[in-house]
Amino acid sequence: MLRLRDLKCYYDTPRGVVQAVDGVSFDILPNEVLGIAGESGCGKSTLLKVLYDYIQPPLRIISGSYEADFPDGNGSVKTIGPGDIREHWWEFISYIPQGSMSVLNPVIRIESQFFDAVPKGHPLKVKGKKMIRERVAAYLKELELPVEVLKSYPHQLSGGMKQRVLVALGTFLHPQIVLADEPTTALDVVVQKGILLMLIELQQQMENTLVVVSHDMGVHYQISDRLAIMYAGKLVEYGPTEVIFSNPLHPYTQMLIQSLPQVGDRRQRVGISGRPPNLIDPPAGCRFAARCPSVMDHCAHQEPALLEIEPEHYVSCHLYGERAS
Ligand code: SF4
Repeated sequence: MLRLRDLKCYYDTPRGVVQAVDGVSFDILPNEVLGIAGESGCGKSTLLKVLYDYIQPPLRIISGSYEADFPDGNGSVKTIGPGDIREHWWEFISYIPQGSMSVLNPVIRIESQFFDAVPKGHPLKVKGKKMIRERVAAYLKELELPVEVLKSYPHQLSGGMKQRVLVALGTFLHPQIVLADEPTTALDVVVQKGILLMLIELQQQMENTLVVVSHDMGVHYQISDRLAIMYAGKLVEYGPTEVIFSNPLHPYTQMLIQSLPQVGDRRQRVGISGRPPNLIDPPAGCRFAARCPSVMDHCAHQEPALLEIEPEHYVSCHLYGERAS
């Protein structure tokens, strides 16, 4: 449904060019939940912006390709890419951004934010505001959200309710792809669980594709079918979530999983020591080398390739593949 090939997306900044997404390749399939994990600054939110075709300076695509299969409404599918995908926001692809507090327009009632989300030319837009109002009210009821929120301003809603409204907004037109950026950040555990359930139930009902970016491996364990692990702008491991959790190959993935709390284990969890490299001037070889407990001599100057180690399970690390065999 979405294909990325050797995609490089950089930010131009006064201090230099930040190599935020650097040579990422993978496919996103129909009717799946794909998780994208990694620490802050690893490029996962940038990648989501690019998937949404929200590419504005200082961000730019340097090289590589990104394309999507778009049903043209006549029973056939055409290929679209950056510049075209934005023409189909909300209907084909939607984006639930990070930080519901700052994303909803504070001076516009929720109802008007739904009106604005319906694109020009959409049958609902043509039929007018009354029809949109009725459909939105019916949709909120379906999601068990109080219809009264439509008359509210964002500041009158709790953080959890704002996030639910964003999910409703992002799914109202039943898009085939929903991109959610850290959908549970800054919410308490109970609200987090409710949001995750809402996202997953909607994905199952609509049988569409949900891409969830989160630094929280627990979130991915609960909801994703496949998982992509990013580190310092690179894709370092990729495969079915169950396989990655039962057999993590990359040392970084292993450390992310080890840092998760486990039932019955009272040992204190330790974070991953050290910091990711500066992406203005990243190291030449493996970008994880400075933090890796398994580092070898050649890791510092030779970049590992992404290899399929077992069916559908890819890793980029010199411990596997041709150097290790
Ligand atoms: Fe560690 Fe080397 Fe693998 Fe990088 S390539 S993760 S430094 S073993």
